Amino acid sequence: MKFNLQTNILISVILGVMAGFFADEFINIYMFLGKGFITLLKYIVVPLVFASLISGVISLGNLNSLQRMGFKTLAYFIMTTAIASTIGILLAVIINPGKGFILAQTEGSVFTSAMSFKEMFAQIIPTNFIGFISGDNMLFLIILSIFIGILIVAFGRNIAFPIDELFEGFNEFMMIITGWVIAISPIGIFGLVAQLIITTGFAAFVPLLKYMLVVTVGLAIHAFGVIPLIIKTIVKCSPFSVAKEVFTSLATGFTTASSAATLPILLEDTRKKLKVPNKVASFVLPLGITINMDGTALFQSVAAVFIAQIYGVQLSITSLCLIIIIAILSSIGAAAVPSAGIITLAMILTAIGVPIEGTAIILGIDRILDMLRTTVNLWGNTSATLVITKWLGEKAYDK
Ligand code: ASP
Repeated sequence: MKFNLQTNILISVILGVMAGFFADEFINIYMFLGKGFITLLKYIVVPLVFASLISGVISLGNLNSLQRMGFKTLAYFIMTTAIASTIGILLAVIINPGKGFILAQTEGSVFTSAMSFKEMFAQIIPTNFIGFISGDNMLFLIILSIFIGILIVAFGRNIAFPIDELFEGFNEFMMIITGWVIAISPIGIFGLVAQLIITTGFAAFVPLLKYMLVVTVGLAIHAFGVIPLIIKTIVKCSPFSVAKEVFTSLATGFTTASSAATLPILLEDTRKKLKVPNKVASFVLPLGITINMDGTALFQSVAAVFIAQIYGVQLSITSLCLIIIIAILSSIGAAAVPSAGIITLAMILTAIGVPIEGTAIILGIDRILDMLRTTVNLWGNTSATLVITKWLGEKAYDK
């Protein structure tokens, strides 16, 4: 009997849960498998983004097309992130998860001061080559790759050897390597799930259940309501079949809690299975996983209102609008790695006058919410590739 990748991943999740509950003595092996998988993904993400973005810009052919796609992409990103953030705020204001929460005096502080926008953007530019290739500065990598692509479009013909073919070949090579990593993803996912079950202290969930529920319901509304509606009305295809095609990516995002680590798989899924043109996928996805984080913005909005409620800070309509604006900006600044969203949350709290120490309250249970919001981030970016393809008048997925 031959299983497909999706079935293999489901089996590995079930086996991972069982291993976590019944064979916790092998934790080191699970950690090795999970970490090994994430490391492999991290190795390929920088050269892959570099090659795919440059070849994507080259295949656009001219700067006007790049500009057109750039505007449409940013408009879609901002619109969907604002919707997600609004859902989070409305739910938190209506359900009031902070009501009745007793703040323990011992609650420690994780932040001494919030990072300012200036510091956040200053960090984008790496000071040396190692910083550049480490992948920690995804936004810089994206800007540089787009710039190199533009230079090749503008001056490529003056260069004696086919520099565009070089990058296209490199891109195809990186996709072959990505295919190998995807093939072993069930093993990595098994390790990550088993490790999660063993290391999660479920007792910490109890006092925060209401807060977790609000975030989860908000994410569900966005993932099962808003995004499918967009796919159905704009792209005119079945959101369910789309989700099925990118299942490997969503499962990887869920278990790794990192959009950046999942990017290689999502690029492969959207190009091969959703048939998104290379120029769209390789432009929208690297940019999207870095700056379009619907799940993160929604979580941050709920968390900001929740912490304000705990500290008894009254939020005016202006403060609530401010949360939406800063959630959009801070999701641009948040790296696509685990826990990034809770770090940039401090910026929102500072802006609305809520103690940033409040983040310590939700830190202990954040991993599980991080897994959920990362999946929503990736799902939002999947929809972006289809919508932009459609808006550019190209043939999009039609099942
Ligand atoms: N882990 C999320 C991601 O990679 C970012 C966050 O912490 O919200 O998309």
